Amino acid sequence: MKKAVVVGSGIAGLASAIRLQNKGYSVEVLEKNSYPGGKLTQLSGDGFRFDAGPSLFTMPNLVTELFEISGKDPEDYFEYNRLDILCNYFFEDGTRISAHSDINRFADEIDKKTTDSAEKVKKHLKKSEFIYKATEEQFLNRSLHKIDSFLSFKTLSSILKLPFLNIFSSMNQVNEKAFKDSKTIRLFNRYATYNGSNPYKAPGILNIIPHLEFGLGAYLPKGGMHEITNSLVKLAKEIGVEFHFNSEVTSIKTEGNKAKSVTTNSGNHSGDIIVCNADIHTVYEKLIPSAKKLEEVDKQERSSSALIFYWGIGKEFPELDVHNILFTEDYKIEFNHLFDSKTIYEDPTIYINITSKQLKQDAPKGKGNWFVMINVPSVYEQDWDVMIAEARKNILTKISRILGQDIESLIEFEEQLTPQLIQDKTNSFKGSLYGTSSNNRFAAFFRHKNFSSEFKNLYFCGGSVHPGGGIPLALSSAKIISKLIK
Ligand SMILES: Cc1cc2nc3c(=O)[nH]c(=O)nc-3n(C[C@H](O)[C@H](O)[C@H](O)COP(=O)(O)OP(=O)(O)OC[C@H]3O[C@@H](n4cnc5c(N)ncnc54)[C@H](O)[C@@H]3O)c2cc1C
Repeated sequence: MKKAVVVGSGIAGLASAIRLQNKGYSVEVLEKNSYPGGKLTQLSGDGFRFDAGPSLFTMPNLVTELFEISGKDPEDYFEYNRLDILCNYFFEDGTRISAHSDINRFADEIDKKTTDSAEKVKKHLKKSEFIYKATEEQFLNRSLHKIDSFLSFKTLSSILKLPFLNIFSSMNQVNEKAFKDSKTIRLFNRYATYNGSNPYKAPGILNIIPHLEFGLGAYLPKGGMHEITNSLVKLAKEIGVEFHFNSEVTSIKTEGNKAKSVTTNSGNHSGDIIVCNADIHTVYEKLIPSAKKLEEVDKQERSSSALIFYWGIGKEFPELDVHNILFTEDYKIEFNHLFDSKTIYEDPTIYINITSKQLKQDAPKGKGNWFVMINVPSVYEQDWDVMIAEARKNILTKISRILGQDIESLIEFEEQLTPQLIQDKTNSFKGSLYGTSSNNRFAAFFRHKNFSSEFKNLYFCGGSVHPGGGIPLALSSAKIISKLIK
């Protein structure tokens, strides 16, 4: 039996391992941490449970098909519910907008609460669906770096549609043309942050993202996001994947044009193919050092990072839902801070995720498990202790002002996740959440490919390579690799 070695058990490493085991390989996964899942993990304390990283789940079919290709019924492992409200948005002037997943209800809400019409919203979401349909096959399901990817009819038709996909305007320019109310524009600009980008620089083609939520749906797994990791590990073990935790890979040994084995603290593991789920920067910096490749990867701007406070809150707030956003008044300045001066804006947009709204076991009765996140720059030479203390104060002041209640006095449990910790825990260079950003119109083409051109049996998956960051794209990278491996 041929052997495959997967470096890293993030969502993309798990999906690759399952796909390769199904292709007839005997798969070993080497993970530096004592637990699987990478960013997709959890924590708990004082009766509260929190998903540590991702909180928004879209395109669940990319998870369920891993069970199906393994001959299993997904429902025996993993269940999830579609959310009726995608997000509750709060503005400083008191306006509150509920983004219903029902497009007509959402459009009516915008019509009532802003100066934009329902028709404009529906038109914008139709365009989002058009971009998705025009690009799905070429950009999400295939390698962008194989000539045969460009020879299919579907690909050629995607290329013909390029002029209509807004790659030459920024997302903000497109949204400012579509809407006149700054609230609607902010709401749609925020989708750039779903892959850690800046809407004032990222191309308008990123307006594909609203379709993922409004068209295909946003979901919450029963048991929380961490159930995605748990159920995939269970499946992988059942079909024969072998896991080695506390096994950091320190190098990849090569011979001629082949990768032969990987080295860990406990010895060598050889494979007929080797798949790296580790951040591509880490691969070229530490595993197969290459100054030239490192320079190429580092030419692309890193995506933003995040600062998260996990707060057990001793009260329930009926106005909050699972996903909530408290908007800044000046989004442009916030992004200038993130990507230009690499600092944190004093009035940041705040995201509050409360899974206990639906998953009652996640918090004691009458309380809430608040995952409070702001976007922050990736790690450069900032004084993080000072920045974090300042941000915590500003976040508490803003939430208390908008909800009309002192929040600090309600905190019963607290943990933090900082960019530095994200880097240390998952080897994500500079603590970026999504690898490189999409802050230029050709970013999709510059993101690293899913295979090595030097070593013919070496492959790359995960958020730092094509097609990009976020759970759906990381899962797609595993699917692309599996298609590339004959
Ligand atoms: C706070 C936060 C919020 C997010 N929100 C969302 C969201 O709402 N929705 C969404 O879709 N996405 C979200 N994301 C992004 C999403 O989590 C990632 O894009 C995705 O989980 C990346 O998966 P991955 O497999 O590429 O990498 P990772 O999860 O980073 O996994 C890489 C794995 O490789 C291991 N590893 C690295 N180097 C080595 C080595 N040398 N040897 C052995 N093992 C190694 C690491 O320990 C890790 O387990 C969020 C991320 C964070 C941190």
